Amino acid sequence: MKILVVGGAGYIGSICAEVLLDQGHEVAILDNLSEGHRRALDPRAEFIEGDLADRETTAATLAQLRPDAVMHFAANALVGESMENPSKYFRNNIAAGLNLLDGMIAAGVKRLVFSSTCATFGPPERVPIDEETPQRPINPYGESKLAFEKILKWYDTIHGLCFVSLRYFNAAGASEKFGEDHHCETHLIPKVLKVALGQKRHVEIFGTDYETPDGTCIRDYIHIIDLADAHILALATPASAFYNLGTGGGSSVREVIETCRRITGHPIPVVEKPRRPGDPPRLIASSKKIKRELGWRPKFQTLDAIVESAWKWHQKFPRGYED
Ligand code: UDP
Repeated sequence: MKILVVGGAGYIGSICAEVLLDQGHEVAILDNLSEGHRRALDPRAEFIEGDLADRETTAATLAQLRPDAVMHFAANALVGESMENPSKYFRNNIAAGLNLLDGMIAAGVKRLVFSSTCATFGPPERVPIDEETPQRPINPYGESKLAFEKILKWYDTIHGLCFVSLRYFNAAGASEKFGEDHHCETHLIPKVLKVALGQKRHVEIFGTDYETPDGTCIRDYIHIIDLADAHILALATPASAFYNLGTGGGSSVREVIETCRRITGHPIPVVEKPRRPGDPPRLIASSKKIKRELGWRPKFQTLDAIVESAWKWHQKFPRGYED
């Protein structure tokens, strides 16, 4: 298939583009390089530098390429930033996304895989979180993604858009070529690995008084390659759908740090800090629906496998895409 990967210079988009290309698909990448990196662009893909906020360029790109499907990764995704600057999140994640949808409909492109998030749920009443769990986001980031999910339903009803919305839990790990390098790193695993690389003295633990066995937050870390596989399966669904995407297991912040110590051989000093605003204590996915309906099978079941791949990439590229 010919796939337009929007946001293909970012962490998740770059690895999905790589896996698509490995499987013989034709890939074009549209990215404004605001969060992504030129060096994260797979050289086998055609690259169009452009911004979804530019309605004309977006429409022209779709009309010219006429892909079989679009994968949409281009978004801002930091909870904390969204609490400070909600306008950026509603503008980029909703308004700019509408330009993409309208361009698709005008060009007759009727299939979309959308990057959604467990942040659309807010703090759940129970875990694991399945697709029936009520969605009550507690920050503008989650709200913007939920709003876009609702827009997608209307574009299906009115324009016949077939979409799959994948609600990621905590994407982590790396491929051989591409990994996680954000301009401003906030995520736990890359921050811990920067300590192991000697680039930071310690890692901070945000909150040690949660109602969890060791007092720190629990997250469901899913390997980026397993996530990419889900996107490829999503290209063949007969109808629109929402799927939660995690491993169904949870690791606490302390467990992540301990795993990183074991794998890197570095003592990784920690400093305990107060809770980070907006962090739910425990987020674990039920991915039964995507397993049942699309036959998705995660290959990297353990946190060890995830951290090992991330550590390999960070050792190879200690300055990330700057090197
Ligand atoms: N976290 C932490 N120290 C850090 C970064 C993150 O203790 O330097 C915690 C964070 O509070 C959360 C978990 O690690 O409980 C995962 O955070 P991350 O930002 O990686 O992902 P999120 O779950 O927010 O999407």
